[in-house]
Amino acid sequence: MSLIADNLRAVHRRIDHAAQACGRAPGEVALLAVSKTFSAQAVREAHGAGQRAFGESYVQEAVDKLAALDDLRAGTEWHFIGPLQSNKARLVAAHFDWVHSIDRLKIAQRLSDLRPPGMADLQLCMQVNIDDQPTKSGVAPAEALGLAREIAALPRVRLRGLMCIPAPQQDPVRQQAVFASLAALMRDLNREGFGLDTLSMGMSDDLEAAVAAGASIVRVGTAIFGARDYSS
Ligand SMILES: *Cc1c(COP(=O)(O)O)cnc(C)c1O
Repeated sequence: MSLIADNLRAVHRRIDHAAQACGRAPGEVALLAVSKTFSAQAVREAHGAGQRAFGESYVQEAVDKLAALDDLRAGTEWHFIGPLQSNKARLVAAHFDWVHSIDRLKIAQRLSDLRPPGMADLQLCMQVNIDDQPTKSGVAPAEALGLAREIAALPRVRLRGLMCIPAPQQDPVRQQAVFASLAALMRDLNREGFGLDTLSMGMSDDLEAAVAAGASIVRVGTAIFGARDYSS
């Protein structure tokens, strides 16, 4: 059994334990394997071990990798989870099934305009700056409702839920409190009539807290593929 297959089993055990500990069915939590910086061969190995959803953060790297993995495309989901500039929107609209990092209307509008006819709707999550970090990524919670209304009106894209990348912190109680506030924001939006069903939250170091707070997709890279090397 390969290291990646072993790691995948260990991550599934962590998800299952975390789900059971809070009375959720393990099947409610999907595992997105974040393969950014890792080779097409690593993705192939994970696929061979049964993994079907992969996350990427860099457009050109992802497009090259998808080309090398074209034989696996059917039945595999590709999720774009990184910062997205509008000049890269065409490639993302043509190659991906999901985008988790929508934090302004302009990008959602471009993806809607550029989604090729004949492809299924592009599934979107709004990235929310849920813990008020001094960053440009993520819509402020107070602006989420307005942005959701604008995105929901666009054709060829479908707003599915919310995503966050909180600042790393060690205390699981605090981790869970931050994730719980994203879950509460989704409930608020759903009271306004959005049928959102997706909370994309939790990574290698905090997935248990995210599952406890209601995550439906956890995005896990390091715990599956190992430490990333950004040198090349
Ligand atoms: C890289 C990345 C991940 C995976 O992080 P790990 O700590 O390696 O599990 C998850 N989400 C996003 C948005 C990322 O960019």
